[in-house]
Amino acid sequence: MFKALLLNQVEGKTHAEVRRLNIDDLPEGDVLVDVAYSSLNYKDGLAVTGTGKIIRSFPMVPGIDFAGTVAESASERFKPGDQVILTGWGVGERHWGGYAQKARVKADWLVPMPKGLDAKQAMIIGTAGFTAMLCVMALEESGVKPDSGKVLVTGAAGGVGSVSVLLLSQLGYHVVAVSGRPETQDFLTALGAKEFIAREVMSKPAHPLESQNWAGAVDVVGGSTLARVLAEMQYGGTVAACGLAGGFELNTTVMPFILRNVGLRGVDSVSCPQERRIRTWERLAAELPASAYADLGCAIALEEVPQAATDILAGRIQGRMLVNLNL
Ligand code: NAP
Repeated sequence: MFKALLLNQVEGKTHAEVRRLNIDDLPEGDVLVDVAYSSLNYKDGLAVTGTGKIIRSFPMVPGIDFAGTVAESASERFKPGDQVILTGWGVGERHWGGYAQKARVKADWLVPMPKGLDAKQAMIIGTAGFTAMLCVMALEESGVKPDSGKVLVTGAAGGVGSVSVLLLSQLGYHVVAVSGRPETQDFLTALGAKEFIAREVMSKPAHPLESQNWAGAVDVVGGSTLARVLAEMQYGGTVAACGLAGGFELNTTVMPFILRNVGLRGVDSVSCPQERRIRTWERLAAELPASAYADLGCAIALEEVPQAATDILAGRIQGRMLVNLNL
């Protein structure tokens, strides 16, 4: 028997409950993993609270990422004892996920643990940190360099935002953080942010072109914030857009694109090809300082996930939240 957070539909509402399950209850897959850690992401908040129709078939074990040890494998790529990471691929949405002490998944979805990381560190990074690295790589690939100018990070005190601030400052960029929570300034300063802008300033309606402030930007907010970020980009700058915490719509004009050569790079972590995944995890292992694992994470038990899910949607979580399956 093992412990899992199970979601069911009760009278049209999503109900989350910690239950004891048997291995036979798990869905099909070629690798069985003893899960050590999962994490809480914005999408997990939507899934566990039943907001936004993330889960369409019940019962479901949520948790869009996990790290642990292979217990059984029918795949040649993995053997018992191997340390592995999983993010994305619809796990925790369409296939049972990481909020359980055991998970059975496809070998193709797993990434071998990169040298220098353990399961706890991998989930302090988690989907949010993995996405942050993809955003940073998108800026690098578009030619945004530390001496190109300032880079902006929106939703800076959240998961993707905080790891983006840390990675960009480690790489030598001058990072300007946008946050709706002034009380997070010390946290963001410790991660390397040099300047701050209040959320309401960056979400004000923008003219098609505003003054040119940013060489690069990581945007997790979308909506009117992304529209303003685009209008404020320097000539030739690039925005890596990965989120919708402030809205999924984008009302903008072609002006930044056709007059300032601005680039808008979409960033998806869920279906990221395997080769890029492995490279991204290796970069994370190489770039993040040891302090990242102390400063960015705080751990909760499975039983605390439903409350934390409500908190992340309300914007009350700072940095990353770990789920320890052995608490
Ligand atoms: P998170 O920890 O909740 O961070 C989101 C942050 O956005 C919050 O901490 C808050 O930052 C800011 N925010 C929240 N509501 C806002 C609003 N109404 N207007 C403006 N800012 C707001 O979530 P996360 O896990 O980092 O995910 C962030 C976003 O990225 C989500 O939309 C998520 O779905 C998306 N995401 C996408 C991918 C992908 O593959 N494309 C992967 C991971 C996440 P402040 O308190 O600092 O203002």
